[in-house]
Amino acid sequence: MNTQNNYTTKTFKKIKKSYRWSGMLTTFFFTLLISVLLMLMLSMAASYVLESWAASEYDRIVYMASVYEKNNKIEIPENDLTDRDFVVIDDSGKPVYVYGTNTCTMDGHQVEVAFGSGSRRILVYSDTKNRIIYTNEDTLQINLEKLLSYILSPSGMQEIKGNDVLSFPMWIGVPMSDGVHTFIGKSGLLIDRVDMIFLTAISACIAVLLCGVVFGFIFKFIRGLVNQSRLKTLIFSDEITGGYNWMAFRVKGEPILRKHSNMRNRYAVLDVVFVKYRNYCVCHSVEEGENKLRMVSSILERNMERGEISAHYASANFAALVKANDEEALKARLKALLNELQSIDPIHRIGFHIGVCYVFPAVDKNGNIVRRRETALERDYNNACAARATLDESDDSGIEFFNDKLVEEQRWIDAVQERQYTALNNEEFVVYYQPKYNPSNDKLTGAEALIRWQSPEFGFVPPGRIIPIFEKNGFITEIDHYMIRHVARDQKAWYDRGFDCVPVSVNVSRAHFIEDDLAEQIRDIVDSEGAPHELIEIELTESAFFDDKKALVNTISKLKEYGFAVSMDDFGSGYSSLNSLKDLPLDVLKLDADFFRGNNDGERGEIVISETIRLAQALHMRTVAEGVEIKEQVDFLASQGCDMIQGYFYAKPMPGLDYEQRLTMRGES
Ligand code: C2E
Ligand code: CA
Ligand code: CA
Repeated sequence: MNTQNNYTTKTFKKIKKSYRWSGMLTTFFFTLLISVLLMLMLSMAASYVLESWAASEYDRIVYMASVYEKNNKIEIPENDLTDRDFVVIDDSGKPVYVYGTNTCTMDGHQVEVAFGSGSRRILVYSDTKNRIIYTNEDTLQINLEKLLSYILSPSGMQEIKGNDVLSFPMWIGVPMSDGVHTFIGKSGLLIDRVDMIFLTAISACIAVLLCGVVFGFIFKFIRGLVNQSRLKTLIFSDEITGGYNWMAFRVKGEPILRKHSNMRNRYAVLDVVFVKYRNYCVCHSVEEGENKLRMVSSILERNMERGEISAHYASANFAALVKANDEEALKARLKALLNELQSIDPIHRIGFHIGVCYVFPAVDKNGNIVRRRETALERDYNNACAARATLDESDDSGIEFFNDKLVEEQRWIDAVQERQYTALNNEEFVVYYQPKYNPSNDKLTGAEALIRWQSPEFGFVPPGRIIPIFEKNGFITEIDHYMIRHVARDQKAWYDRGFDCVPVSVNVSRAHFIEDDLAEQIRDIVDSEGAPHELIEIELTESAFFDDKKALVNTISKLKEYGFAVSMDDFGSGYSSLNSLKDLPLDVLKLDADFFRGNNDGERGEIVISETIRLAQALHMRTVAEGVEIKEQVDFLASQGCDMIQGYFYAKPMPGLDYEQRLTMRGES
């Protein structure tokens, strides 16, 4: 598989994973960290305010306890006693001295005093407002959580508003030196407006910050997920069709193959092509063409079953991964698909080609079916494309399956293309001549030049194995020039040696005929070899007549003007070009070998042949019958006034030296 594609798939998987897991974890831990830090800040600020205050209150109670102890009774200065009721209890918890009006009792009216077991820690509760303070001799701790929640509660706020200060009754117990009694003094935690504003502001800031952090991270996380899904849509959607693209095909198709492709479930990769899409766009518009691609995409999507996928590959190509357990069923399904695709334009007939490549089950060394680890969708699709490319462009629609023969064929094409220029430069292409005879007197009246490749590597290669390749890759133009040059050279040599030369026709490919100056090119080549123009004839294949007729008429007229005869090759083999005969000033009509092949003889066949000859005669054209192999055909053609016969009956194509033997010297008859 292509490394770039591999890299893209891996990167995509990483992006997907990172958003799902690391994104969530990062968000969670970061939010937690920030929250803890903010809480810590808040508690430090509150502790600073409250504990510094409470510490001084504790000192006062310790002082009161020491005075009480010294005097054994109460002789605490009056101003120190303001609002400072106190109680002294013994180790059983029984009050031994009570001072003030709002004093705690063991009855639990307002205050309850308790000892920690074994320690000298004392807990003091205020039962009305549930505020808790406790002390021991080393530290003074305040239950901040409860305190703050009260301060920030509506009733706490109300209290602050009404009094300017928040008065917090607080009982502090101090153990006395006799180890039996405890001095519990009432104190008041007074939080004034400045403290309140400070605390509230800090709390509010921290709350806002906390919310910001939490919401920020939630937002980031959600946005990450949304972006991930957008990214996915972007990566997986095709710009033109809006359906899946090639990337989606691979990312989704590979798991399908890995999981499901086995002996019971076979799959095939398809290449579906809108043939002549570019022509369609030229004739209509690119928008119209893309509109059609969208229709193709939705038809394919609709035709996909569960566990199948289709996508737009590029330009006019679509890829599909379909189940293919039964070859006949698959063929029927693809035929139905072709029919549906062809109906996307009710007015114009649009052709589609489908290439199919089976995905064979994965096997181990011993040939046992194993779970597929590696997939090669790229290669399989490429094979499907290779199969599809073998379909003839002129075919409206067709289906082709990839097989080993195709691999061979492709290798051959590559080999030919690799060597074509070398072969041309080394003159490995040889001209063979197939004589044309007049059937009424068996005299040589012409010949056709046919190419052969005498390859040092591949030996003798017939034209059928190379011409279609050259026609596709454009090298045919070079071949046509090469053939004209060599035929002109041979004719000139034979002429100079005194042979009674007859016209030799050279095939000029359809692709070549589009060039405006073709007639001039041919004239110049023939002139450069010094051959008389009347010894060269140009053969055009019938299918060339579908192209721009005006240009064709122009080229033919010029060729004739320069003295070259022009013939229509393979007449009757393809679509009827009777109409072309009317407009084109041709000299020769070559009846295709199909007329004389197989068992299409009989009366009807003869009628067609004789009437075609008559038609040509009426249009002042000479006729050549190709592929004639038997005497009866020769006799019949002679009786119908056919001018020439080119067929195995008289001669097969032969090397120049052999052909030369058939020529007579000028002056002989
Ligand atoms: P074509 O132009 O129709 O050539 C006639 C073909 O029919 C030749 O095949 C010839 O050998 C064959 N043929 C002639 N008489 C008979 C017969 O009685 N029986 C049978 N069975 N066959 C007969 P070839 O030489 O193999 O050429 C095949 C095609 O390759 C040609 O068909 C032509 O289209 C193309 N071709 C050959 N040489 C050239 C060339 O130099 N340039 C271009 N552009 N095309 C060429
Ligand atoms: Ca020909
Ligand atoms: Ca022919």
